[in-house]
Amino acid sequence: MASFDPAALDAVRVYALPMRNRFRGITVRRGVLLSGPAGWGEFCPFEDYDDAAAVPWLQAAFEACEEGWPEPVRDRIPVNCTVPAVPAETAAQIVARSGCRTAKVKIAEPGQSAADDLARVEAVRDALGPGGAIRVDANAAWDVDTAVSRLRELDGAAGGLEYAEQPCPSIEELAAVRRRVEVRIAADESIRRAEDPMRVAVAGAADVAIIKATPLGGVRRALQVAEASGLPCVVSSAVETSVGLSAQLALAGALPELPFACGLGTVALLEGDVVAEPLLPEQGFLPVPSTPPEPDPARVAAATPPADVQRWWLDRMARVGKLLRPRGPWLRAPR
Ligand SMILES: [Mg+2]
Repeated sequence: MASFDPAALDAVRVYALPMRNRFRGITVRRGVLLSGPAGWGEFCPFEDYDDAAAVPWLQAAFEACEEGWPEPVRDRIPVNCTVPAVPAETAAQIVARSGCRTAKVKIAEPGQSAADDLARVEAVRDALGPGGAIRVDANAAWDVDTAVSRLRELDGAAGGLEYAEQPCPSIEELAAVRRRVEVRIAADESIRRAEDPMRVAVAGAADVAIIKATPLGGVRRALQVAEASGLPCVVSSAVETSVGLSAQLALAGALPELPFACGLGTVALLEGDVVAEPLLPEQGFLPVPSTPPEPDPARVAAATPPADVQRWWLDRMARVGKLLRPRGPWLRAPR
């Protein structure tokens, strides 16, 4: 097995932070922070991804450490609040507390009814007022006919939806739903690799692409993918610490057009962070950082997992590094 080069250890820190709520089936978010001449990057592919799928995540981390990011065209990013599949009263409280003008409402939760979704969306509209935007996210739960009827009802209950995220699993189904409803369709789960936004656009499957710098291989590559797709883009996080999130903010800051709020208010999903001033939204906005924030040594120490977990991540990063830079050295010497 590839093993990690101990000469680079002072530039690399493994972290583990509990999630406030289960997300993607995980209760602890883990990853690696690494520093280079341009600052700090974060390597945090989900643990069920194989080494090949993790390569773009390391490219994104290296971009942050070694090159830095392109110049932004805006200095702050509007973000949405996220309303889980909670009762209507709770939904209204989440929106009111957030200060955000855009709410993303989770719908189609297993075990819940269409009436639950309608009540939640109506409560969110009451809390936001007529000027706010409501998007819904079904996380690929429906078939085409269900999506068409449910989205029409939800669009009515919301007094107009901004868009519906991934109502069905496949690109073909998204295209079929899009032909039959007035609501804009956004592709999320359908976009995981650099070629996906183009496939979605060519199939006429979406009006909006949800993109992330990490699975697309960094800010520059994500900008190229966004431009090639020709679709308006919403930047969404992969639930990183503030170090990794700063790359997503750099992407949102550099997109030529940003017509919708982004899904970047996610640091609060973690119990704690690795920086002294976490990137939490204020009044619905996050700043575009020019460089990644520096990890705070005490917070990193508090988030350091046991040695066997550190070893697993460092070995994983070494294997992925050798896929990315087979002729090496894949990791430059620490500064
Ligand atoms: Mg989604």
